[in-house]
Amino acid sequence: QAFTPLLAVDGIKVHYGAIQALKGVSLTVGMGEMVALIGANGAGKTSTLRAVSGMLKASAGRIQFGGQDTTSLKAHQLVPRGMAHAPEGRGIFPNLTVMENLELGAYLRRDTAEIRADMEKNFTLFPVLKERRNQMAGTLSGGEQQMLAIARALLSRPQLLLLDEPSLGLAPQVTETIFRTLRDVNKAGVSVLLVEQNAHLALNSAHYGYVLETGEVVMAGPGKALLESAEVRRAYLGE
Ligand code: ATP
Repeated sequence: QAFTPLLAVDGIKVHYGAIQALKGVSLTVGMGEMVALIGANGAGKTSTLRAVSGMLKASAGRIQFGGQDTTSLKAHQLVPRGMAHAPEGRGIFPNLTVMENLELGAYLRRDTAEIRADMEKNFTLFPVLKERRNQMAGTLSGGEQQMLAIARALLSRPQLLLLDEPSLGLAPQVTETIFRTLRDVNKAGVSVLLVEQNAHLALNSAHYGYVLETGEVVMAGPGKALLESAEVRRAYLGE
């Protein structure tokens, strides 16, 4: 990775009381890259994303985003700098309409005309959200809620999209649709850091991947190379 990364995470540690969830995780996301973080339950994937997006504080290490040190910044300070996090469980508001949820994604923006244009772009990416724009978000299917979470994150115009388990609880076909759209979003210039249980899907889509085990990066490489590695196949692809 011989370029200045958009995101550089260097040796971050995270503790929950006496539990050490991250023991010094380092990774980079290049401009325009899609990077996958895979690993078993409890390996520290979610903690890594939460530390990057300022939702929790790392007890050691350094995070740089867009060439600036963002280690001690909070989530609300990172959104205007171009980072959007679609969290585990999606974090949508079930009692607001689809449209209201989307508008919340753009809450920091004042460029009304461009917001409207981005809204239309999102509706092109996810036509079902347009059909359901006046429906309460809580009445959407799991897949539609995931699409809404991604669309809402995109409305902050992020340079980097952080995504936690977009495939969780979704049928394979729905997951496939979401990943196809993610690849389109990425091709349009949004960098993506993706946490996924589904290692096959994630590594197939990602330029680069990291394997986490008990709070440490144990393997890293181009997505396709990791997919072909015997160790990854045995441990994460059930072969
Ligand atoms: P999952 O796929 O289950 O989300 P993960 O790889 O994302 O797993 P984390 O959620 O980051 O892993 O958890 C890493 C470790 O930290 C685990 O041992 C977990 O039990 C622990 N942990 C996570 N959140 C908390 C918390 N709020 N309080 C205490 N321990 C926690």
